[in-house]
Amino acid sequence: MSDDTEVGTGAAILPAALHRLAKGRAMSSPLADKVALVTGGSRGIGAAIARRLAADGATVGLSYAASPDRAAQMVEAIEHAGGRAASFRADQADPTAAAALITDVHARFGRLDILVNNAGVTIQGRIDDPDADQAALERQFSINVLGVAAAVRAAAPLLADGGRIISIGSVFGARSPWQGIGGYSATKAALGGYTRGWSRDLGPRGITVNLVQPGAINTELNPETADHAAGLVAMTSLGRYGQPDEIAAVVAFLAGPGASYVTGATIDVDGGHLA
Ligand code: NDP
Repeated sequence: MSDDTEVGTGAAILPAALHRLAKGRAMSSPLADKVALVTGGSRGIGAAIARRLAADGATVGLSYAASPDRAAQMVEAIEHAGGRAASFRADQADPTAAAALITDVHARFGRLDILVNNAGVTIQGRIDDPDADQAALERQFSINVLGVAAAVRAAAPLLADGGRIISIGSVFGARSPWQGIGGYSATKAALGGYTRGWSRDLGPRGITVNLVQPGAINTELNPETADHAAGLVAMTSLGRYGQPDEIAAVVAFLAGPGASYVTGATIDVDGGHLA
């Protein structure tokens, strides 16, 4: 069949050029008709992921805990760019709220195809420090681990077959390069175990489950201007911080059709931090 062959679609006959255009649009909107939820999508890495999935054609729900204005700005930015989005307040430290978020997004948009577990916090404290803030460390575990598990448990029956679960871990889940980071490292390491286990549980329905482990990424949580930044840069092969869009690009790949045979995987996006 030559390039200029006409393509029949029932009674309608599309000229080949129009068909190529339609095909091009489909390729540039690989997530058309999909609904995604990005937790912690109001700023930082989550905001970049929300923007990218929307640009790829998905309708995006984004959650936040404390910054409704930032979340509203993100929704506005996505809509301004021609996308569809809505924000949802849900404290991931509360498993009931994390589960309710899933049902709210599903009810609002009528389906759920992609869950990105991005919301997370970093609390430091040495195990031998009697003044370490235990309540904050426990809240960190609730947000980074228990809230994620609650969301996935609630999402499992609602996710479309062939759906995607992508969690944002950290290179600190594989390595604890300084004192006081053990609690955070443990939360991110737990996501690796869950990812592998959930890929087994949900694989029969074609749902893939993967973990992205960012290195140092320039956000409010970890600005590239911070005092500790030079030390983190020195640990990378590329000699620089990453930007949120560089994480979003990998998440978009995992969310898309090209990653249909990737599951249970941990993917480091870290400029060589773990090399
Ligand atoms: P930011 O602090 O910049 O953004 C965090 C996001 O999570 C915000 O949208 C925030 O919402 C939301 N959030 C925080 N706490 C809660 C909560 N209890 N319930 C719901 N949402 C919450 O962080 P980053 O973008 O830097 O980090 C995003 C993820 O990437 C985290 O899981 C982090 O551990 C991980 N990561 C980050 C790295 C980095 O260098 N930046 C490196 C490795 C991993 P709100 O605005 O309402 O507070």
